[in-house]
Amino acid sequence: MKRYAIIVAGGKGLRMGGDVPKQFLPINGKPVLMRTLEAFKLFDAEMQLIVVLPQEQIAYWQKLCRQHGCIIQHQVVPGGETRFHSVKNGLAIIPAEEDAVVGVHDGVRPFVSQEVLQRCYEQAEEKKAVIPVIPVIETIRKLNDSQSSKTVPRSEFRLVQTPQVFSVNLLKRAYEQPYTTAFTDDASVVEAMGIAVTLTEGNRENIKITTPFDLKIAEVLAK
Ligand code: C5P
Repeated sequence: MKRYAIIVAGGKGLRMGGDVPKQFLPINGKPVLMRTLEAFKLFDAEMQLIVVLPQEQIAYWQKLCRQHGCIIQHQVVPGGETRFHSVKNGLAIIPAEEDAVVGVHDGVRPFVSQEVLQRCYEQAEEKKAVIPVIPVIETIRKLNDSQSSKTVPRSEFRLVQTPQVFSVNLLKRAYEQPYTTAFTDDASVVEAMGIAVTLTEGNRENIKITTPFDLKIAEVLAK
């Protein structure tokens, strides 16, 4: 079955502070986004890779690729207002196809394991909508109002990662829906059509590099 990946890096990455967007920051010398591309290339050299970047950062990314001698083939698409719009821009260049699956992955998650990529892509061929999750380790509380809060049973919750993998035609239909702020990932968009998603096991190292603290952890993980 034909495979695609939309790697979204269209955000401004402001939580990291500094001038360089988080997806370009080096982890032990190599940019985050380049490491993410390498993980997908290693998994399936035939897969078609689409990278979504803010328009104004495309030239900088291409310069980084030249500097690092990165020869992984990929198409670059300009990002949109929110993650939803960035994914939609990526999907627009994928032709409607019955026998194809597409994974949407956060560009700032370079440590997705090969096993998780394999599980998500293989299961999506049959199940049509598969997302990786991990158990919650910490105890969590729900805030009722400013005065009160309550512990909730953590075994009933999961942390959601990417890649979230879907049949191409299903995801294209889902992204025809009007945007709402409840769409924080791709599963939420697909579910809004009344379609159930299948959960599969993620890997704990698959962190979303968001803060300077995450970057320190990333340097250790990359060793
Ligand atoms: O902002 P957030 O942490 O939810 O971003 C998750 C992923 O979505 C990041 O890889 C980010 O670059 C991407 N994104 C995007 N376009 C936006 C906003 C976020 O591709 N407009």
